Amino acid sequence: MSDNFDREVIVIGGGPAGSTVARYAALDGADVLVIDGRDPIGTPLQCGELVPTNDEMRRLCPDVPDMDDLFQTPKSAISRHSKEMHIVPPSGKPLKFDFDGYVLNRVAHDEFLVDLAKSAGADFLINSRVDKVEGNSVVLRNGDTYTAKVIVDAGGHNGVIRRDYWTEKSTKIPVKFVLMEGDFGDAVELHFGSMAPGGYAWMFPKSSGANIGLGIQRSFSKGKSLNDYTEEFISNYNGEITFNGAGSLPMSGTIKKFVKGNYVLVGDAAGMVLPSNGAGITIAMIGGRIAGQVIAGHLKSGTPLEEYEKLWKKQMGKVMANSKRSFKIGSLLFRLPDWILNMMFNRLTKGIIWRAVTCRKMFWVV
Ligand SMILES: Cc1cc2nc3c(=O)[nH]c(=O)nc-3n(C[C@H](O)[C@H](O)[C@H](O)COP(=O)(O)OP(=O)(O)OC[C@H]3O[C@@H](n4cnc5c(N)ncnc54)[C@H](O)[C@@H]3O)c2cc1C
Repeated sequence: MSDNFDREVIVIGGGPAGSTVARYAALDGADVLVIDGRDPIGTPLQCGELVPTNDEMRRLCPDVPDMDDLFQTPKSAISRHSKEMHIVPPSGKPLKFDFDGYVLNRVAHDEFLVDLAKSAGADFLINSRVDKVEGNSVVLRNGDTYTAKVIVDAGGHNGVIRRDYWTEKSTKIPVKFVLMEGDFGDAVELHFGSMAPGGYAWMFPKSSGANIGLGIQRSFSKGKSLNDYTEEFISNYNGEITFNGAGSLPMSGTIKKFVKGNYVLVGDAAGMVLPSNGAGITIAMIGGRIAGQVIAGHLKSGTPLEEYEKLWKKQMGKVMANSKRSFKIGSLLFRLPDWILNMMFNRLTKGIIWRAVTCRKMFWVV
């Protein structure tokens, strides 16, 4: 209990961002309640399920400290450990790169993050949808109300606080995917070109079968539907489809401010997805740890909540800026006809393409 509030912190959403905020705030002594509309959290699956390993994360995000404490992915949540990424132009002839990544069992992964937060002392209220937030009150769809000193929106790209209290918009990419049975080799694949205008398509092999999907920017799609693009791409692979899923990804990077008064945004709600490769799980967790620790410091010793924005910039500012820039350049290039793209994906440009996908400066100056 805090002052006259029910809880010190309420976190709306217990996905990777929310569970991680809850875990680190509770570890530092905060009294935290996470409220999530799903039961169980993490279902139904809405994900391609690829994350870099901790070693790869250290290379991708060199300013983020102590990755091993943050990412403790258990074996039960890993479906396949892949060592290679193929970046595939429309010709189908891949450029091959060393890449150390896990294709997850995402549902098991999210459940594990919830368990970590609970072990740290956070409470969870599931199957409870939040309708709105007013002042210090979180109002559920069933009319119940809970109050808190700090309220965190980790509700994803449609988060209620982001929706009602922020005017800044994010570009959202609608995405569809399937789980398919079959043998798809070891390499994860990212495809670029007219098969996924303004976005990309993927095939991520699992221990059995694969996660295959595609996202587009509607303004690039010349009236053709996401369904049509997805069906066409998926028809390149053979196997029984065992699951169909869909979702939406914020792809314009982080918004300007994550904090307003006692409201805090984290994860997709704050745009924490790297636009040049679609990575959102690990990035939401990086933001979640910073937010959780700063909130605990705020409650204990009055640390301004804005410290969270400063620490985020220190740890992720360069990577996010590079990723945004690569995405913008990519969005221009990928409007070019496929035959030009096929010529542009070659041995000479291989290094530049890899730098763009892995969120480093593409050239020395840009
Ligand atoms: C199809 C698809 C494929 C993707 N593939 C990948 C990938 O391969 N690798 C990767 O790193 N990232 C991927 N992403 C992105 C990644 O899934 C997100 O960036 C990540 O899940 C963000 O975590 P989050 O906690 O911010 O949001 P979410 O994981 O969306 O969690 C939000 C939680 O909030 C809850 N919630 C929302 N609103 C309310 C409310 N009003 N009341 C109560 N609860 C609420 C939801 O139930 C949910 O549990 C993909 C996304 C999509 C849609």
